[in-house]
Amino acid sequence: MKLQRGAAPDFLKENYKQWGKDYEQMRLANPSTRFNWRSYAGVPVDKQLKSSLNAITKNHCSYCDGFPLGTTSLETIDHFRPKSKYPCLAYVWHNLFLCCTVCQQAKRDTFDKKLLKPDVQAYQFHTYFTVNYSNGEIAANPAASSTDQDRANFTINVFGLNKPGRPESRFREYCLFQLAGKSVHIDDFSYRFFMI
Ligand SMILES: [Zn+2]
Repeated sequence: MKLQRGAAPDFLKENYKQWGKDYEQMRLANPSTRFNWRSYAGVPVDKQLKSSLNAITKNHCSYCDGFPLGTTSLETIDHFRPKSKYPCLAYVWHNLFLCCTVCQQAKRDTFDKKLLKPDVQAYQFHTYFTVNYSNGEIAANPAASSTDQDRANFTINVFGLNKPGRPESRFREYCLFQLAGKSVHIDDFSYRFFMI
């Protein structure tokens, strides 16, 4: 789902550069250093960021749009450009996405510039993808350029969007949304890109 990202929280704006540098230095000194979120004002930064990121996605996964995070799937914060390869970006607001553990475990440290980023201004789901409303699968839009189709296929593979069970889940949700009629709010459903 296309995401509209607001401004970074003030505490992050004030500290992200230094915190990124610190983590980069730790990685240089010891490449196997585990990443631990810093605390700010006595509260872990990831805990503080989750509420800000949640406001952007409305408690959906930024990548598969699964909902609600924290009940059927755990929520976590993904570094779009992995912190192992880009340690100085570990606290950059535009590099942080709330997501489900299924997407994060599929992605892990994979990154390439081809990977589609849902908060980019020009991003639109239907530019890159099509959906099959009879089985829930997502595919590259055949009308897109070969470059864009390549990006779409890469993104589908990185997040495992068509792994067994996921198309079925989308199809079920689509059927429920159709049955629910107009009295429901789309934000109360998973896979909003599939419904509109
Ligand atoms: Zn997900």
